Amino acid sequence: MLVYRLTESTAMDPNGTTAADLFKNASHGLTYNDFILMPDTIDFAPAEVDLTTRLTRDITLKRPLVSSPMDTVTEHRMAIALALCGGIGIIHYNCSVAEQVDEVRKVRRFENGFILDPVVLSPEHTVADVDRIKREQGFSGIPITADGKPRGKLVGIVTNRDIDFETDRSRKLKEVMSKDLVTAPKGVSLNDANDILRKTKKGKLPVVDKNGNLVALTSRRDLLKNRDFPDATKDAGKQLMVGAAISTRPEDRERLEALVEAGAGVFVIDSAQGDSTFQHETIRYIKKKHPEVQVIGGNVVTPKQAENLIKCGADGLRIGMGPGSICTTQEVTAVGRAQGTAVYFTAQTAKKHGVPVIADGGISVTGQIVKALALGASAVMCGSLFAGTEESPGEYFYRDGVRLKAYRGMASLEAMKAGGGKRYFTENSDHVKVAQGVSGYVVDRGTMFSLVAYLSQGIRLGLQDLGIRSIKNLHERLYSGELRFELRSPSAQREGGVHDLHSYTEPDVAGGKRK
Ligand code: GDP
Ligand code: GDP
Ligand code: 5GP
Repeated sequence: MLVYRLTESTAMDPNGTTAADLFKNASHGLTYNDFILMPDTIDFAPAEVDLTTRLTRDITLKRPLVSSPMDTVTEHRMAIALALCGGIGIIHYNCSVAEQVDEVRKVRRFENGFILDPVVLSPEHTVADVDRIKREQGFSGIPITADGKPRGKLVGIVTNRDIDFETDRSRKLKEVMSKDLVTAPKGVSLNDANDILRKTKKGKLPVVDKNGNLVALTSRRDLLKNRDFPDATKDAGKQLMVGAAISTRPEDRERLEALVEAGAGVFVIDSAQGDSTFQHETIRYIKKKHPEVQVIGGNVVTPKQAENLIKCGADGLRIGMGPGSICTTQEVTAVGRAQGTAVYFTAQTAKKHGVPVIADGGISVTGQIVKALALGASAVMCGSLFAGTEESPGEYFYRDGVRLKAYRGMASLEAMKAGGGKRYFTENSDHVKVAQGVSGYVVDRGTMFSLVAYLSQGIRLGLQDLGIRSIKNLHERLYSGELRFELRSPSAQREGGVHDLHSYTEPDVAGGKRK
């Protein structure tokens, strides 16, 4: 049974209470389920709600969604899909440096403004070489340079149309390439280059210097991607942004360098208890060596921990110790915090420094995302919710007629065996492995594209009911005290769910195909 103090000064306000009073007067930590938000006047449609938010000091997202750095959640397919939809993926590091770098590269290559390092071949290469590139990298529009070098003299181009009916795959490219090329001069703006692509109806536009040497390539496909995904999370070069997880261990400094080189724009220092001298040093090191990349520290749950990481230079914080669906940390170590309380107090502190916080773990329905944002989080990080989509690593299988995918904690025995457990300081105690997570299964949720559309609409409906048009305004009203909350007793929680029916079809609370 919930116990909360009702003194005179905290007696219930008929219009609900402020977050400050809610948390100050609660006699215990609160989870998302323990409270509810009060509605306010609506004078706009859900489509008008702006979900733009900040991931870190310098990175803006159009959707407040981040995928967890877990080996059953985020590799390149997840990161590409989520970035196209306006969120961002964090590539896990339960793999070799080369494998993680490869995942980051695939995301960065997916969409471009100018492709500054296009794959090229020489006239002496064969159609089979183009086939190989298509297989390995996914594209087949290949500029041909005289010496086969990326900055060589442009002599032709080979695209699908030059070779799709070619039966002899050993033919040299000089026999099949198009030589009559439309090019743009070095220094052309992306707008002008795109205009040429549109007008000439060509698929590729090589950019050349005054000596005819190739300097870049633009692709019509990228114009289409830009049109189809206007909310994509991209950097100034129009490449999708992607994050990467690293540990605080000294050998991960090499990993860091390789990932920066590959184009990871944000690093998540993956630690279950982030307030350690190892992490303090790591944050300082990255900010000094690579001031251009953003660093998310964590995980933390108290303002004191948050201050410590911010002092070292963290650009964002990851909040949560124990709320994850696969997590057994609180049972194993007796340490952690109820997620609502953790998010509210850390966000309040981080805000004073202009640092956004990400509510990490325990999100299974859209209402919890609205609540996390209402407590001051700028984004949520999801593991289980995204693990059942087509874009997560792993294959679907059927059990009892239900389509499932595997999902496991990074500190589960299984993941630790595969190289995980780095975030739990377990590396020196290999002889006794203590898991802080489990492995299990999640149901099929369809594609990320449909899931993110569903989640976005759910969040918009939530903000609309609050009479609030943007996440920015939600935070303003949180801190001004206009946003009102109320505790829910266990019976209020029951009342808020489905009840008293003989039977019902499970609601599609998180989009996708649940059953
Ligand atoms: P910005 O904020 O001024 O960079 O505006 P936009 O993002 O709208 O882009 C400016 C120009 O670049 C427009 O012509 C866009 O169509 C184009 N653009 C945007 N993204 C891409 C992309 O990924 N590839 C290419 N080739 N062009 C792009
Ligand atoms: P193609 O017609 O087979 O070359 O390929 P598409 O036009 O279908 O795809 C090109 C996509 O791959 C665009 O989004 C490019 O930005 C991306 N891409 C990334 N790197 C390269 C590259 O080196 N060469 C080419 N042609 N495309 C690249
Ligand atoms: P979910 O979205 O599934 O509720 O939670 C995902 C979050 O759980 C991750 O982002 C990460 O913070 C946390 N997590 C991932 N693996 C483990 C684990 O094995 N043990 C614990 N304690 N937390 C985990």
